[in-house]
Amino acid sequence: MEIEKNDFNWESFLSIIKNELGESVFDTWVSPLCFNKVEANILYISSPSQFIKNWVVGNFKDIFTSVLQSFYPSILDVEFVVVSISDDNNVLDNSNTYLTQEVSEEQTGSRTQLVNSSLFNTFEVKLNENYVFDNFVVGGSNEFAYNAARKVAFEDKIYFNPLFIYGGVGLGKTHLMHSIAWHLVKSKSSRKFLYVTAEKFANLFVSALQDKNIMSFKEMFRSTDLLIIDDFQFISGKGGVQEEFFHTFNTLISQGKQIVMSADKSPLSLENIGERITSRLQAGLAVDIHATTYELRMAIVDQKAKSLGVKVPKDVLELLAHTITSNVRELEGGLRRIVSYHQLMGRKIDIDMTMDVLADILKYSNKTIGIELIQKKVAEHYDIKLSDLSSTKRDKHTSKVRHIAIYIAKQITQYSLKEIGRHFGGRDHTTVMYSVDKIEEALKKDMMLDKDIKLLINIIQKS
Ligand code: ADP
Ligand code: MG
Repeated sequence: MEIEKNDFNWESFLSIIKNELGESVFDTWVSPLCFNKVEANILYISSPSQFIKNWVVGNFKDIFTSVLQSFYPSILDVEFVVVSISDDNNVLDNSNTYLTQEVSEEQTGSRTQLVNSSLFNTFEVKLNENYVFDNFVVGGSNEFAYNAARKVAFEDKIYFNPLFIYGGVGLGKTHLMHSIAWHLVKSKSSRKFLYVTAEKFANLFVSALQDKNIMSFKEMFRSTDLLIIDDFQFISGKGGVQEEFFHTFNTLISQGKQIVMSADKSPLSLENIGERITSRLQAGLAVDIHATTYELRMAIVDQKAKSLGVKVPKDVLELLAHTITSNVRELEGGLRRIVSYHQLMGRKIDIDMTMDVLADILKYSNKTIGIELIQKKVAEHYDIKLSDLSSTKRDKHTSKVRHIAIYIAKQITQYSLKEIGRHFGGRDHTTVMYSVDKIEEALKKDMMLDKDIKLLINIIQKS
């Protein structure tokens, strides 16, 4: 019998593969893959890059085939196809979608566990043991949220209720929420807490209705001292669940119990959430986690590399922090991929290796590059003030950095010498030519400079 496209359960196939490979190998190599089709008894899987495809085929094809033989005996083989992706965002989107699926799968698993035991209790929720305050790198974009979360965790007294943490995906909301829960566990607090995702809250509610178990549902949610609800946006548009949440919320608040919530948007921007709830949410404290800065990303990769126990050269960390700017989860994923490649293949971690392994993420994007961007990245890289590039400052370091920025502008943009000169404090075209010559001369002898400039060009093209 031939398996039709819709009959193939990709999610369950992945979960078996995940069991076989272990979480970290799976996250690194398999999560970027997508189901493509089943045709003529062959399963086709899309890979975002040739590199990942080669790696998976070279290392895991046997596992894929044997899982297929055990579970889908009518599928005879597996083929991997590289689906070229027009820009980096799509690559990131792909893996994000996948991550979301992975999370829901995990949640369905725990839900079954909870409902089967018909006992709702806090400790069946698996908290990620790395998500503790001590592992959270604090910077300008997240320190408000971090401090508010700590206050809730460390002090019994209620200062703001609810605490509502919001921000884009992968910026540390779940990390902070687990940290609060861990703090209560580790400090053996007498405060009872309950951590659920809004999705799980909804699922439990629906199951409780079906099992006529609604009293124990209400009882569980209303007897906690601290209720933590992650990804609140999930319940948008779900009327019945919102109604139940509203009652739970009011009961807890009126009993002086703390509520902490997270969402991808601010309370006011959440769509399809009843006005009653929105106005309740505004009575508390809403804190925003902003996009990361370069400095914060650098501190995070540095910390993650240390915790992986691998020495990663500074220029590689810089490349990662410069180029993977979308969110911390992607940044971590990139780092993990190069570290596992190093561990499995024994190849030294350096810029070349990183560019190979992360080609799909770092892929050159065909944008028109402005001179301002070049100036910003060059100044950042060599740690000089942006304005010095256009100033008359003439010390050796500043002059050299200025020559480099001009050289790069000449190499990778279409601007005329005159136009480039204008961007560098109105220098004339002969001065620009002089800078270009100077660097060309230096490149003949200076390997480090060559490497540095290549790295910078890559960073700029990726920004
Ligand atoms: P969100 O819930 O906002 O989508 P997560 O809390 O799941 O994001 O964070 C994604 C990943 O990034 C996690 O592995 C988390 O540990 C890590 N992370 C995010 N922000 C930080 C930070 N400031 N310091 C250390 N790790 C972070
Ligand atoms: Mg989250």
